[in-house]
Amino acid sequence: MLKQTIKRQIQQYIDPYYLAFLKKYVNMAEINFNAALGRHFILNPRFRLNIETAGVCNLSCRFCAYSQKKMAKVVMPMGMFQDVVNQVVDLGFSHISLTPLTGEVFMDKNFMEKMQYLDNHPKIVEYYFSTNFVIPSKPQLEELVKLRKLKIVHVSLYGHDEKSFCDLTQHSGKQYHRLVSNLKFFSELYHKKSMFKLIMSWRTTPSFSVNQTPNSELQEIALIFSNKHQIEIDSTPLYDNWGGAITNEDVKDIGLKVKDGPLVYKKGPCTLIFDRIAILADGRVNACACRDVNGSLVIGDIKENSLSDILSIENPLYRDVIQEQVEGKFRHACKECSIYRSIYTPIPIPFTQYYNLAQVKKLLSRESHDMVD
Ligand code: SF4
Ligand code: SF4
Repeated sequence: MLKQTIKRQIQQYIDPYYLAFLKKYVNMAEINFNAALGRHFILNPRFRLNIETAGVCNLSCRFCAYSQKKMAKVVMPMGMFQDVVNQVVDLGFSHISLTPLTGEVFMDKNFMEKMQYLDNHPKIVEYYFSTNFVIPSKPQLEELVKLRKLKIVHVSLYGHDEKSFCDLTQHSGKQYHRLVSNLKFFSELYHKKSMFKLIMSWRTTPSFSVNQTPNSELQEIALIFSNKHQIEIDSTPLYDNWGGAITNEDVKDIGLKVKDGPLVYKKGPCTLIFDRIAILADGRVNACACRDVNGSLVIGDIKENSLSDILSIENPLYRDVIQEQVEGKFRHACKECSIYRSIYTPIPIPFTQYYNLAQVKKLLSRESHDMVD
């Protein structure tokens, strides 16, 4: 809570571009220092994987690349999902993120069924997802709190009242009222101690301050979550640029600010190509689960090849993505990306186990797959 308060105070008084600029040079020093010492900070590439169950969304947020997405806006069929999960656990993965690259998980009418499948799978340890919380029905919310292996739900609150919700999401007040109604219902169901961790984030215009007196139903219910359930609700002064797909020009009329790619120092491969791989809703496998909305990092398709063959250093498509980044050649989405994380940057989480590039390549080799089998 204290950390959050300090962060808010800093954000309130210091220009976010100045902070981003400062951070770039601090990161540059750290990256070059670790690179000189040959220290790599890559997470286990066989621990967590993203499965995009739905690549279709009910909103069209102004700061998101979803509206520019050229890939198929589809839902993963149940049969494909079950097959994917079984291949995933055979490779040693045990933690699954269901957050789509772009999309809303509850747009999938089988989403609860898919989570039940994960819950009942003996080799799955935990799973999590993000949602805009507009779509779930009351019975679905009641089912949600019964899931045993669901560990984190991240709710993104778009806008802080009906007008800003509609301006940001380019959708109607009907969805805003549904969101408010879902949050009210859920505040009665949620018990922090016995269930998954709930995280909330404001994504709204700068006219809103998290410290202001609530003047909308959404702010009132958010305050209940803060006070009754001790949920910290963060906010961002600087929006990510979606690998260059969103510019300041796109959002300046609503007062948002975007962090451009040049504000991020890049040296060495981005760790996400190792520890945040995504199987997209249409079956394609992308070497980044977070950005790259148009698939410039696609390394295969599970409709054509096994996951074991795709997530292998012997797969030329994957090997090329890695080798290019080792040589400092970044494809468009990575070149412009503002959430890049260098392999020379440690994650600020205590006791994290890291791997170096040579170890990771070994783990990605066919020999290592056979050992897991
Ligand atoms: S930010 Fe999320 S909710 Fe908004 S359009 Fe993008 S994927 Fe959909
Ligand atoms: S640089 Fe950005 S787009 Fe590229 S792999 Fe990293 S997070 Fe993904």
